[in-house]
Amino acid sequence: MSTTTAEKSTQALRGGEYLIRDAAPAECYLREHRSEEQQMVADTVRQFIEQDVHPNLDRIDAMEEGLMPALLDKSAELGLTAMAIPEEYGGFGKDFITNMLVTEFTGHGHSFSVAFGAHVGIGTLPIVYFGTAEQKAKYLPKLATAELKAAYCLTEPGSGSDALAAKTRADLNEAGTHYVLNGQKMWITNAGFADVFIVFAKIGGEQFTGFIVERGWKGVSVGAEEKKMGIKGSSTRQVFFENVEVPVENLLGEIGKGHKIAFNILNVGRIKLAAGVLGGSKQAATAAVRYAKERKQFQQSIAAFGAIQHKLGEMTVRVYAAEAATYRATAWIDAEEKRLLASGVGENEALLGAAEEYAMECAMLKVIGSECVDYVVDELVQIHGGYGFSEEYPAARAYRDSRINRIFEGTNEINRMLSVDMLLRRALAGKLDFLSAAMGVQQELMGMPSMEQPEGLFGVEHDAVSRFKKLCLAVVGFAAQKKGKALSDEQEVLLWLADLLMETFVSESVLHRVHRLVEAGEAVETGPKGDIVRLYLQDAAQRMRTAAERAVTAIAEGDEARMLLMAVKRFTKMQPMDTVRARRRVAEALIEADGYPY
Ligand SMILES: Cc1cc2nc3c(=O)[nH]c(=O)nc-3n(C[C@H](O)[C@H](O)[C@H](O)COP(=O)(O)OP(=O)(O)OC[C@H]3O[C@@H](n4cnc5c(N)ncnc54)[C@H](O)[C@@H]3O)c2cc1C
Repeated sequence: MSTTTAEKSTQALRGGEYLIRDAAPAECYLREHRSEEQQMVADTVRQFIEQDVHPNLDRIDAMEEGLMPALLDKSAELGLTAMAIPEEYGGFGKDFITNMLVTEFTGHGHSFSVAFGAHVGIGTLPIVYFGTAEQKAKYLPKLATAELKAAYCLTEPGSGSDALAAKTRADLNEAGTHYVLNGQKMWITNAGFADVFIVFAKIGGEQFTGFIVERGWKGVSVGAEEKKMGIKGSSTRQVFFENVEVPVENLLGEIGKGHKIAFNILNVGRIKLAAGVLGGSKQAATAAVRYAKERKQFQQSIAAFGAIQHKLGEMTVRVYAAEAATYRATAWIDAEEKRLLASGVGENEALLGAAEEYAMECAMLKVIGSECVDYVVDELVQIHGGYGFSEEYPAARAYRDSRINRIFEGTNEINRMLSVDMLLRRALAGKLDFLSAAMGVQQELMGMPSMEQPEGLFGVEHDAVSRFKKLCLAVVGFAAQKKGKALSDEQEVLLWLADLLMETFVSESVLHRVHRLVEAGEAVETGPKGDIVRLYLQDAAQRMRTAAERAVTAIAEGDEARMLLMAVKRFTKMQPMDTVRARRRVAEALIEADGYPY
């Protein structure tokens, strides 16, 4: 059956496809359109964090004995730990969008968010997706109620980013009944109280494999709490395994396929991190505007100063844009999961397959979200002046707690490089016609630029995003052709290429979000949301120009370099705009709403 044009325009894009096709804004999911049930879940989470977590932040950070497990139990009473677990195992089997909302609304719970995320995410999901029926029946109902609490043990003292270099080993005993586990894991969230550990070890020192290990088993022990810069209330310890006998039925997934578990769980973890930091960013933006309104210097509220309004406006621009990008990819994953389910793929494989399809977007969003929250909390401290440096105000905790997000779930350097690598791999595997699209742009560069004036709603902005895509195709395409496999040795270039991919993704997402709102009847084209789009695009163009020029001059010479540098100018050219007035208008909306307004 052929699809109509309208149906086609609402279809999710495939992974990386946003780069090679100018899709209609209708493809972009509007977070504003969440269902009543999703809204109810979001409200429940918000209330729980405000009533049970926020008043206890100092006690949590002091690691008061039993408090974090008790809070996890309380969240379980509200059903929050059961959302992603299938109904047959005592969960609610909620869709991916709902799970992302739960993550966003727990995201401003500081250390609690990290403990909660580790339990419901990396601790529980490996069993949901890779467990046998027996493993699921044994562990999931108790993980759903938080009677059992979970942790994930991948990192070791000598292997972090290079996770597959793990030294922990598992050897089958003579009777063939147990694997004997020996090794040491590092930085394990929830290690202080977790009952179940997902552990990666090499069978016979070679085959990287997952295991479910229980805390009570002989030979399992934990180190002292790490003394950390932030998220001080989340338990982080080393975990030791000394001749631990793991029954063979607790091997998770397949022998030698532990990387499938580790990497697939990371895809989901990365986009969830992006949702979590959105919650934190909004909370920080709200704290910033409230303080700015209250604080008086030179006989006026500091919120009246342009320097402060610039910060408030820019926070809003970045958070709104990151949110558009995060939920756009969330809805793609949700749609792909449903498509796979309808095609007969099992429930377990469906979300994993969907997240794998958008692994590149998940890696980019992890970077986008974590850098957005760091910008916001840094300016939150600055707006507080000296009080930002005081533990009596919320800014210091927000600043410390956000920093970890650029490090775990794969550092931002690793995720940047991965996003380019994933794109080129998709192209080579024939999943994305990136190289023909790149050649198309090269041909276009030989001809005269079009003089056609863009028309229609946000015509100028759509034209700009279309040129950003051409920039990605021209520069990334050239780098891939010129360097081939040797491109992986040019890490600085890879990081700049990743910036081009990310800026383009966010630019199109924020434009599509606001375009759709106008189409839905919200008169936003000339209001603050229209300003947000124009500001984001204006600054993205400048950032992209710098990144692209640096990349080009590192990999091209002579005529090739000259042609590419001309292309960079052409594709990042923007109409001048008064960004000062626009950012002030965005800030005013924040001031008027007395918090992050969207
Ligand atoms: C508070 C906290 C909680 C954590 N929770 C968990 C958990 O629950 N479970 C778990 O398994 N792990 C956990 N981790 C570990 C975390 O995932 C790792 O710290 C992270 O993956 C980075 O590894 P590393 O610390 O060994 O840094 P390294 O890998 O040594 O990296 C150091 C620096 O080198 C860079 N680098 C590394 N390799 C390359 C490369 N190939 N090219 C260019 N640059 C490179 C990195 O980007 C980074 O800047 C946690 C860590 C912390 C701090």
